[in-house]
Amino acid sequence: MCDAGDAELPDAEPLRPVFSRRVVLLAAGAAIGASAIGRELVAPSTSALAAGTYLRPCGNVPISSSWQGHRNRNPPSAEPGTDYAVVTGSQVRAATNGVIVDRKDSTTTATGRYLALRADDGNYIRYLHLQSSTVPLGARVSRGQVIAYSGASGFGTDTGYGPHVHVSLWIGGTPLQLGFANSVDFENYVDPSPYPPPPEDPVPLHKSTKYTWNAALPNGVWAKMPVAADSSWLAESSAAIKETGDLTIYLTATGVTSGFQIRVLAQGLDSSGNVISTSPQPVVEVKPTAQTAASSLTYGEYSLPYFLSGPLRLYAQVRALNQGIRIQQVVVKKNYWQS
Ligand SMILES: [Zn+2]
Repeated sequence: MCDAGDAELPDAEPLRPVFSRRVVLLAAGAAIGASAIGRELVAPSTSALAAGTYLRPCGNVPISSSWQGHRNRNPPSAEPGTDYAVVTGSQVRAATNGVIVDRKDSTTTATGRYLALRADDGNYIRYLHLQSSTVPLGARVSRGQVIAYSGASGFGTDTGYGPHVHVSLWIGGTPLQLGFANSVDFENYVDPSPYPPPPEDPVPLHKSTKYTWNAALPNGVWAKMPVAADSSWLAESSAAIKETGDLTIYLTATGVTSGFQIRVLAQGLDSSGNVISTSPQPVVEVKPTAQTAASSLTYGEYSLPYFLSGPLRLYAQVRALNQGIRIQQVVVKKNYWQS
């Protein structure tokens, strides 16, 4: 069926339909494909399988610009698609089963970073303006799998647009075969039914500790921060117990003229409890303020979401940037789950 001249292909102009019904859309998509790619016509029945089955990339979020809206631009979008408005860093899920056939990791050009999915049904989907992709070129992905994190990339920066995911869909061929402008409306192919509610998260545990440290800090040296009379550990996990949570450290200091720094470190242990790795997390620097000068008290704060699996523990350090700093009090609050 793929020989030239085997199929009588319509010689018409590519259709410019106003799609009011999915059936019309499917027919138009197949006709555009046929005229653009000649003999490699995919049977409409194959494409029709896609109707109403695709997943939106980020769930039921607002559409900031429709496929038709892209076409109505002056000049029309070179790659009409659907813009889903989501904050940067949102999970992007594969619409359907397929293979990652193209991936761009630079922010250059109007697309920014993107992924392309060749669906098992023969259709082709592109996800544009990503923050990052989580699947390699050639990966087989399944419907609903997280394949990327959303962004706003394009024109050489991570903020080339407002944050959104742009999804383009071509029926029965690649954009090179069909023409980038001959995409169809992805929204006409999505599963419109609401998602079932996700399982309820377990109620987190809460822990709050207050320790009166009252210690003078040596200048310019990282000092281990106690959180209780007998402990410096903020969180611990083992081979048997994982811990997920977020913690915040609140410090009260006096004598701050230049400032001080706070950081958390993750310590990896072997099966005998020996330290085999130490990885410092980002440093937060606390500067004195006008309020500091008035009250002589300076408050420091450090927050960290964490996931600990295996023999690991977290502790904090503080480093004075001037002589004479005393840390009066250490308060740690955390919400966490163990599993
Ligand atoms: Zn767009």
